[in-house]
Amino acid sequence: MHTKFIFVTGGVMSGLGKGVTTSSIAKLLQLADQKVSCIKIDPYLNYDAGTMNPIAHGEVFVTDDGGECDMDIGNYERFLNQSIPKSHNITTAQVYSAVTDAERRGEYLGACVQIIPHITDEIKNRVTKIADDEKLDFLIIECGGTVGDIESLPFLEALRQLRVEQGPQNVIFVHVTLAPSLDVVGEQKTKPTQHSVQELRRIGIQPDFLAVRCTLPLEEKTKTKIAMFTNVMPKDVLSCHDAKSIFEVPQILYDQGIMDSIFTKFGIVGMLNTSSNWDKWNKITADMLNHENNKIKIAMVGKYVTLSDSYVSVNHALRHSSASLGRSVEIDWIDSESITDYGILSKYGGILVPGGFGTRGSEGIIQTANFAREKNIPYLGICFGFQLAAISFGRNVLNLQDANSTEIKKDLKYPLVDLLPEQKDISDMGGSLRLGANDIIIKDSTRAYDIYHTSRINKRHRHRYEINSKYIPEFEKNGLVFSAYSDGGKRMEILEIPSHRFYLGVQFHPEFNSRPGFPEKAFTAFVKASSET
Ligand code: GLN
Repeated sequence: MHTKFIFVTGGVMSGLGKGVTTSSIAKLLQLADQKVSCIKIDPYLNYDAGTMNPIAHGEVFVTDDGGECDMDIGNYERFLNQSIPKSHNITTAQVYSAVTDAERRGEYLGACVQIIPHITDEIKNRVTKIADDEKLDFLIIECGGTVGDIESLPFLEALRQLRVEQGPQNVIFVHVTLAPSLDVVGEQKTKPTQHSVQELRRIGIQPDFLAVRCTLPLEEKTKTKIAMFTNVMPKDVLSCHDAKSIFEVPQILYDQGIMDSIFTKFGIVGMLNTSSNWDKWNKITADMLNHENNKIKIAMVGKYVTLSDSYVSVNHALRHSSASLGRSVEIDWIDSESITDYGILSKYGGILVPGGFGTRGSEGIIQTANFAREKNIPYLGICFGFQLAAISFGRNVLNLQDANSTEIKKDLKYPLVDLLPEQKDISDMGGSLRLGANDIIIKDSTRAYDIYHTSRINKRHRHRYEINSKYIPEFEKNGLVFSAYSDGGKRMEILEIPSHRFYLGVQFHPEFNSRPGFPEKAFTAFVKASSET
């Protein structure tokens, strides 16, 4: 079968949940036994998300192949339970630099290089290459930004052209808009949607579906009115009302007949029976919702605590794990910069320190790691939380005064955490950390082995610093064990304190491997320990 393309565009304003709409449509097609994947287009000028501040832009999601991607890629992975390569996050910088590099090599010799056709061709080639290489039945492409933005114009133009080239029977457009109500019982307003669709049609795109965000289900009369003004059939004006969980959105769309409509538009007959897939998925989503009253309290201590999206994968991973244990988690974010009374941490079942960078807030994390160790409170430290746990042990147990990481302070007497040797000659900030999945060897008879039940795991990384191996014997003599390593023993990957209830630090990022129904094992072990108070 020719790959069918579904393009998802955004209207009215950002933050309406295009990513969830995209993931949900992909999930429905996957539940119908189709081979699917998603692409995220980010029209900004950064080459990738790696250099962006997580407070403003949300987490940087790391792929197996070392991409530092937009967090929507994480949504796709979690909905589809499938790894997405970095080529699926296309940015303006990638497209333009490919074209200007080709121009310098002389590949367009004689031509005046222009947005149309050169930039649009490069965009189309990237999209169709993924469809062909991965032999996909369906490819859903989410275009970031809002229609009308200058940045997204070349991308929308490329998508418009793709419909002409691939044929209308192979391309569907879904436009995500908003129907605001001025108060809870108020009328659902259609004007923003009307204007947004007009803007889209002005650049030659007529949407096939509208996914309309609203607080309460879209009323029939609102649907009819939107349909009349936008040339979209009333049944294809879909209500995307508030749900308790994003994982309910596939069902919400399915109940409105989106699958029948998609298959009809694509001319596909005899849709497959999907009941067994649905049963599994429904069980997973129900488990995520059914234990709301049975909460485990977790303190998440870090620097980027103001936006919950900064650690979206960590939040999800905790929820996947608690659901698998028949519980739910209540996460309190605590700013490591402002914490003064560490006693407040005693009321939590467990303390988690996620990844982070830089000096600000690091002292608070070191103290937090020490408090968790001294008070025997379950602790999970990820990346920065792993490195700073080692420093806290160095200062407080090994008595290495002012021990630190050279990331935080230069010229240290005890640089317990130091730059990775291969980083020494690197000056570029973008894409230059140790990134992506690597094999990790776990030692026998350790807590890490008990958790993973195997001596080899493969986990994703994103760091520039590492444990300084010079100090390992001293750590191990005093009760802290490095129970896993990588790169032939050069790189420490897991630390644990066997005498503690649960004290685990991981250099890698387990959160990127956690999926609904398939929780990551270190998270589950941590959440389980945190529930046993
Ligand atoms: N800042 C630390 C490093 O670069 C930790 C990185 C992280 O937590 N992702 O090694």
